[in-house]
Formats: sequence, structure tokens, C-alpha cells
Amino acid sequence: MPQPHDAVPTGLSRRSVLAAAGLTAAGVAFQGSLGASNASAATTPAIFYSPHQDDEAIGMAGSILEHKAAGRPVYLVLVSKGENGGIAQNLNQTPCFLGDKCSAPNHYHELGWQETGTTPEVVSARTSEFTLSAKAIGVDKVINFKLSDSAYGTDSEYNTFVQQIMGKIRTLIQQYPGASHKFPAGWLDTIDPAQPTNATHKACSDAAYWLMKNGELTDVRFNHIYTYEAFSRDQRDRGADYVLNIPSSHMAKKRAAILAYNTWDPSRNLYTCGYHSVPTMLEEAYGDPREFVYMLPSKYRTGRGN
Ligand SMILES: [Zn+2]
Ligand SMILES: [Zn+2]
Repeated sequence: MPQPHDAVPTGLSRRSVLAAAGLTAAGVAFQGSLGASNASAATTPAIFYSPHQDDEAIGMAGSILEHKAAGRPVYLVLVSKGENGGIAQNLNQTPCFLGDKCSAPNHYHELGWQETGTTPEVVSARTSEFTLSAKAIGVDKVINFKLSDSAYGTDSEYNTFVQQIMGKIRTLIQQYPGASHKFPAGWLDTIDPAQPTNATHKACSDAAYWLMKNGELTDVRFNHIYTYEAFSRDQRDRGADYVLNIPSSHMAKKRAAILAYNTWDPSRNLYTCGYHSVPTMLEEAYGDPREFVYMLPSKYRTGRGN
């Protein structure tokens, strides 16, 4: 596997410090995610924000485990309820678009789930998958913002959603002073780079942007979630400030988290919603033991669709 960064910890740029922090993470606990020798940083939590049920397994699990291994408490936030009529449609239909890859018995599922509005069965089943994933990763705390996802509504609804996320983050800033905060790289999160980014993911990074601009958030990183489907393997590290090479023991846990999204067990409210939503992304993330971490770009643009 190519080494994306020079291993020389010059300490002169944030980029090289990040690379150095990554290099020490495998064997030695690093203090704080910028390698700063701040004793308190080791015990303050690292808080990861997953826009939907599945993003944490796809693009954050390795980073969560990295911080846990460094002695940090790790908290996992589910930002939106994950309403999604498309998943209900897929699970209401037989034959399944996944064909033999579908893990429902005989690939049969005509669940009759609500396909519009609040999609309660989808929200409930996705959240069961998320809970199982969080357990597989071994997070110390799960926090569910339970925000209705209005990122795809009018511009005003999008802005309200960003404000709601900011309000919830502010509560955590108060509760956990000194915590570091990890968001999706929403400005990058699209499967097709010619198409607008995922609005829910973008709303999360916009919330982070405003809070950083206000000086309310300082220790912030962004994980590129959609890279696994948007780019071929050799292109996925393009532009990343830090590429995490996930150790195999951590990768086993990440894979278990991914599999939570492809487990059919109605007795546990598990219906493979994740795999009936983003099968390729889950497969690619399962096969790629890397995660891609960014700082906020200097030319960051807020708003949906960029
Ligand atoms: Zn998502
Ligand atoms: Zn199916």
C-alpha cells in the first residue's frame, strides 16, 4: 500500500503533524489528535457525528478505534433520524434488486413499510442497525440527536436543520469541555463528483464550519465517507490531510460494524436496511482498511449543493 505522506514529523505544518500522529497511533498512544502534548487531551472525549445510520461504520469506525486505543473516551452521535422512503421501497419489493446478494430468506421481502413522510419502520430498523454497529465498534456512549432530516427541503428548511445541529453540538460543547469533534467531510460526500453533495452530510459540516468560525469549536476533523464509492482505490486518498491505515484488529471490528447493516434478523428488528441502501459503499469500505481525514478547507463554502 502506498504511503500517502512523508513520515518526517517536521512539526512545521499541520499536515505533517497529522501524519506523524497517525504513525505513532498504531503502537504508542498519542496525546490529542494534533500530537500536542496536552495531558488533559487524553481523557477528554472524541465525539464522532454520523449523519445517518451507516456512515459511522463506513468511514469513521477506524478513527473511532484509533482514538479509543489512544485512551480517549469515544462518543458516537447519530444526527438525523434517517428517514428514507427509498429503503422502504427496496424492502417492500420482491424480487430484490440485490438478487442473490440479498440476505433475506429466499431473497423475499414484501414488508409493507411506509414509503413516504416519516418512514417509521425504516427509522426504527436503521437505528437497530446503528446500535449494533456502535456495539461492535465499542463506543463508550451513543447519543441520538433524533433530528428530522429537513436537509432536502427548502433552503430555509436546510438552514433550520443546520441551526438545529449547531444547537445540539453546543450542548455537547458545554457538557464535555475540551472534547474533539469529528464530522463527515460533507463538502466531499457525493457518490458522483458531478452531482451535488449529500445534503444531510453537508449540513453537518456546515454546522461545524459556523461553530469553528465563532470560535466555539477548535479541535475538529472531517472524515470523507463517500470516497469508497466515488473513487477507485488508488484515488481515495487524494487531498486527504491524514490517511489512517487501520490496524487489522481494528479492521475486524469495523467489518463487524459494517455487517450490522447486512444482518437479517427480524427478531432483533434487523432488516439489512444499510445494504439495501448503499451496498457498494459498504462492500468497498469493508475491503479497504483506510480512512480519510481532512481539516476544514480554507475556501469552504456553506450551503447545500456545492
Ligand atoms: Zn449518510
Ligand atoms: Zn433484498
